[in-house]
Amino acid sequence: NHPLSNSQRRDAEALLHPYANAVALRANGVQMIERGEGIRVYDETGKSYIEGLSGLWCAGLGFHNAELVETAREQMAKLPYYHLFTGKSHETAVELAEKIKELAPGRIARVFYQSSGSEANETQIKMAWYYNNALGRREKKKIISRVKAYHGTTIVSASLTGLPYNHLDFDLPVERIRHTSTPHFWKGAEPGETEAEFTARIVRDFEEMILAEGPDTVAAFIAEPIMGAGGVIVPPEGYFSAMAEVARKYDILMISDEVICGFGRTGQWFGAQTLGYDATSYSMAKQLTGSYLPLSAVGINEDMAEVIEKHTGEIGTFGHGYTYGGHPVGCAVGIKTLEIYHRIDAPGRVRALAPRFAAHLDRLAGHPLVGEARHTGLVGALELAPGKSPKGFATPGKLGPRLAQELLERGVIVRPIVDSIAFCPPMVITEEEIDELFAPVEAALDATEAWAKA
Ligand code: PLP
Repeated sequence: NHPLSNSQRRDAEALLHPYANAVALRANGVQMIERGEGIRVYDETGKSYIEGLSGLWCAGLGFHNAELVETAREQMAKLPYYHLFTGKSHETAVELAEKIKELAPGRIARVFYQSSGSEANETQIKMAWYYNNALGRREKKKIISRVKAYHGTTIVSASLTGLPYNHLDFDLPVERIRHTSTPHFWKGAEPGETEAEFTARIVRDFEEMILAEGPDTVAAFIAEPIMGAGGVIVPPEGYFSAMAEVARKYDILMISDEVICGFGRTGQWFGAQTLGYDATSYSMAKQLTGSYLPLSAVGINEDMAEVIEKHTGEIGTFGHGYTYGGHPVGCAVGIKTLEIYHRIDAPGRVRALAPRFAAHLDRLAGHPLVGEARHTGLVGALELAPGKSPKGFATPGKLGPRLAQELLERGVIVRPIVDSIAFCPPMVITEEEIDELFAPVEAALDATEAWAKA
């Protein structure tokens, strides 16, 4: 314990932090981040860090893009706020929706806005319920998510999330939410099981769950293309096409949560394209505005749009919406962000950088402390494991945070997830900067190993 700085003390007196142990934070003091530039942020002492997780997997264009700043300023001056309620609309909301539709030809027919990823998934579930009510299928309401999924933190989105810290202490999940198996071969395979056999078993788990619940009671399956906050879990080849086929067989909507994977992160505009499936609807947030402003969107296909638009319901309206949904400044920044992604060819850039990124992770997988390296595009993770065993540590969640701390001291910010550390750098990173990002990892692993032995 060291004495807290003035700003750390003020923080402790003023803020309750998300997903934090307040007592530990108070004792150690938070790290105050003051400014950003390119892929780096600077703390209040002036020390610089490579932001290896783009903040929260979101600042795809880095931390000081002058065009986005100027766009926000101009829109603020022209129309700082308006809404889409009561028969009103505005140009930026329409134009951004058109641009999103262009990225997903034939997949997205209509766009609905919110401010966050959690709200986008909340909207998704309400839409799935509304859609089934419109079709007279009042019992078809259960949603199947997955163990280790992360879909947000509001009551329903936290219920969809398949992580214990979102449920315990909050009496969640709510009714009608189920969680099927995680497609993590390295961890989940039974002895002697091939990847194809594992995949078939996981898909069978899903189908058996549907049959046990009753197909007429299951409305939707929701999934992130690559599970992010659950540990960057890349599913085996063929997993998603098989899951989508099962969903189709029982007339179950397929919701793709693209909050992390959307807008180039995996090397295509949407993670669903990289993973080879078609969804009925898509959740988008984070990189939609480069995270310069909070904005999220749900894109639905033609069939859903038609059913929802034609349904007059009990009260004659689709009774759902947010004050800040489609905020003009957020939408203007979103339009500019997409323009920049097109200019730099964000998906192509990610595909070009991915081999360098992957090579570093694969090389580090040779370290005695690393059990598995996982990656797709510019998102990846290293999982620490004793003797490289997928069974993990007897006391989980100690070495991952320690490694993140060792890296922080060496000027790199990453995200510990139990005993994994996740990497998701801004998509504007260069090859040389990828080398810089990974340069201290080996020494940090050695230091973590020494710490564990001590
Ligand atoms: N969905 C996914 C895949 C996410 O990773 C997150 C946040 O990390 C969310 C939803 C929730 O987004 P938000 O924190 O903006 O509510």
